[in-house]
Amino acid sequence: MRTTTYDAVVVGARPAGAATAMLLARAGLRVLVVDRAAYGADTVSTHALLRGGVMQLARWRLLDPIAAAGTPAVGRCIFRYGDREVDVPIKPRAGVDALYAPRRTELDPILVDAARDAGADVRFGVSVTDLVGKGRVTGVVGQDEHGRPFAANARITIGADGIGSTVARLVGAPVEQSGGSAAAFIYGYCEGLPADRYQLWYQLGVAAGSFPTNHGQACVFVASPPPRMRHELRSGTNPAYAKLLAEAAPELLDGVRDPSRLRLFAGRRTGYVRRSHGPGWALVGDAGYFKDPITSHGLTDALRDAELLSRAIIAAAAGETTEPMALAEYQSVRDRLSARLFAITDRIASFRWDLDSIAGLLTDLSDSMADEMHWLGELDARHDLMETT
Ligand SMILES: Cc1cc2nc3c(=O)[nH]c(=O)nc-3n(C[C@H](O)[C@H](O)[C@H](O)COP(=O)(O)OP(=O)(O)OC[C@H]3O[C@@H](n4cnc5c(N)ncnc54)[C@H](O)[C@@H]3O)c2cc1C
Repeated sequence: MRTTTYDAVVVGARPAGAATAMLLARAGLRVLVVDRAAYGADTVSTHALLRGGVMQLARWRLLDPIAAAGTPAVGRCIFRYGDREVDVPIKPRAGVDALYAPRRTELDPILVDAARDAGADVRFGVSVTDLVGKGRVTGVVGQDEHGRPFAANARITIGADGIGSTVARLVGAPVEQSGGSAAAFIYGYCEGLPADRYQLWYQLGVAAGSFPTNHGQACVFVASPPPRMRHELRSGTNPAYAKLLAEAAPELLDGVRDPSRLRLFAGRRTGYVRRSHGPGWALVGDAGYFKDPITSHGLTDALRDAELLSRAIIAAAAGETTEPMALAEYQSVRDRLSARLFAITDRIASFRWDLDSIAGLLTDLSDSMADEMHWLGELDARHDLMETT
């Protein structure tokens, strides 16, 4: 078996992994990114990118392909709490004048192509089963797309392998913070809903949302506490979806008569923050930090944290700092930017709110994203300063 040596091996080629690989490769590092899934495969997730995520795609010059894939530009978010409606226009700020909700079959390949264009080696159908190295991780082993043994050595191994992260398990990354709540979801696609707005509905014990996406469709989800979802699912997925939608967003029912491809997320996993670095390894995206999908922030986190982690690795590779210091700083900034989001998401996912308090929680959520926007904005300021000096 031939073993190739890289500066970085990234396990997982979706938002966190592909974006990290792209940024490392753009900086001139030799990068391998592998995924056991197929290129362009779908995954269980709705699609709403929030401002920070869109900002990252714009900074990386990837918004054009997102728009070229027919992803509608979303100019407003409409929140409905019982009978109350709050219409929030997306103000042009920090280079972002619209939000986007691309299908994962569009977003993930765009990020993968950008990593490949930057010079990363990208391989699909490759499953990582073990890590190499004693004391310090020095690479990965597994099976390639033909079922043959596969190995790669690297100065750093990055687990971007999602909620069931093999890398996190193999390094024994401890969970440093846990959430207490989880929501269950059913979502599907339908045509004929407005393409210019995210819409979110909150009623006691149930929520729904509509995100306009590619191919003239909107992704429509319903969410509830898992015990309620399990109860409704006893009559089947379609009846459960229709019943929860009728409760959360009755005005949507007419538009969603024939939803296609309903997908279920059972809500068995509460949020966690894992220690995300150690000798020769780091975790990024859901592998290191997961919060309930109810606040639609996981993709934005992944794109933000890909930037944080890649900057740390690049600084260490350039000898500007040591690897342990750079990686500790990565986690510390990630955790600082995420702390309020994590706590508020956990409260929203609990469904232990009334229609007044959910409005307050969503205002807090929006405020808590200001830290992240400020940090991302500063990056550009620092970058501009470096380019002009
Ligand atoms: C129901 C639901 C709705 C959601 N809605 C939204 C939303 O509207 N907006 C939003 O921002 N976020 C949303 N999220 C969250 C979002 O999907 C995740 O945060 C995001 O996918 C995390 O990206 P990632 O790259 O970290 O991991 P993932 O997307 O999970 O990718 C991990 C990859 O690693 C690969 N992998 C795993 N193990 C191995 C291995 N051993 N070897 C090789 N490859 C491996 C997998 O094949 C996979 O492709 C939602 C999630 C769910 C479940």
